Amino acid sequence: MSFKTISCQNRIIELFQNAIIKNRLAHAYIFVGQEGIGKTLFSKELAKAIFCQNSRGDACDTCSYCQRISKDNFSDLFLILPEKNSRVIKIEQLKHLQDILNVKPLESKYKIVIIQSADKMNEEASNCLLKTLEEPPSYAIIMLIVTSLESVKETIRSRCQIMRFSPLSVIAVKEILINSFQLDSRQAERLAYLSNGSIERAMLLSHTNAIEKRNWFIDKVLRLEIDDNLAFSKELFNEWHIQDLDTLEEKRSYIKELILLFLLYYRDLLVCKLDNSELPIYYIERRDDLLCKSISLSEDALFSIVKVIKASLEYLDYNANIALLVENMITKILQIQFGNRMNV
Ligand SMILES: [Zn+2]
Repeated sequence: MSFKTISCQNRIIELFQNAIIKNRLAHAYIFVGQEGIGKTLFSKELAKAIFCQNSRGDACDTCSYCQRISKDNFSDLFLILPEKNSRVIKIEQLKHLQDILNVKPLESKYKIVIIQSADKMNEEASNCLLKTLEEPPSYAIIMLIVTSLESVKETIRSRCQIMRFSPLSVIAVKEILINSFQLDSRQAERLAYLSNGSIERAMLLSHTNAIEKRNWFIDKVLRLEIDDNLAFSKELFNEWHIQDLDTLEEKRSYIKELILLFLLYYRDLLVCKLDNSELPIYYIERRDDLLCKSISLSEDALFSIVKVIKASLEYLDYNANIALLVENMITKILQIQFGNRMNV
């Protein structure tokens, strides 16, 4: 693999190829962009291009460095990510990073550290990282991978070069789904349209395709009444067996699927409302019901509901009380849907 395998990020690739050739790499970068568009994959390919023994701005994939990096077995490259069952990078991990960087590189002239989910650091860990960024050793290159810049301290941001990653194109997502996940062409195309440029989202959607769950959900959501908010939220938790899951992490991932089902339902209503035959309908088998339902809702209301759902998806990672988050989301949706007539 080399930069050739990275889709839709040509501008960033070109920038780094120049920097490698001209020896003008910065000490710290922030890679920002939505989940599932290949930022981590890119950072590993970049590290390979930097370390490669034959590098002319890209990895050769044949030298021993390239091969060992591909097997995650290279002594000057480190990956830091939240530990299993934890959502955050801990201070201990950042202290370990300082120890790593205090020792000169063993095999090459750089030491590269990739920090995944770097927007999920607590105050203590952020301060520790800041110290490292204030006086990085000459050989250090630190890559922070984040989904949003807002949750990165300004003092950290100002010490990094910020690279914004674009969502993947529909064609790119489709090809990746076919080639790397062995989906058939028709399913890949449909999921690619609905994925918003994210492989992660496309894969989540392929799970939510479980027919019974989909049918159960659409039957219920079509018949929601004004005061169903609390009951429906409880029913969803029961139907998805959320209480039986062991970790908060697992629960979050199930809830994410659930929220996506809401998003797709209201998006479908919007597509029906706008009468846009170009866009695919997710719950296609219920097209008539959707068309009928969309008549009773205004375009503005549907846009507002979609906004509420997207905000809930964003808060999910930062919110410990996921039951309340879902309850609030449904309450807000129904308030908009039924025009603020509910007493809550
Ligand atoms: Zn190489």
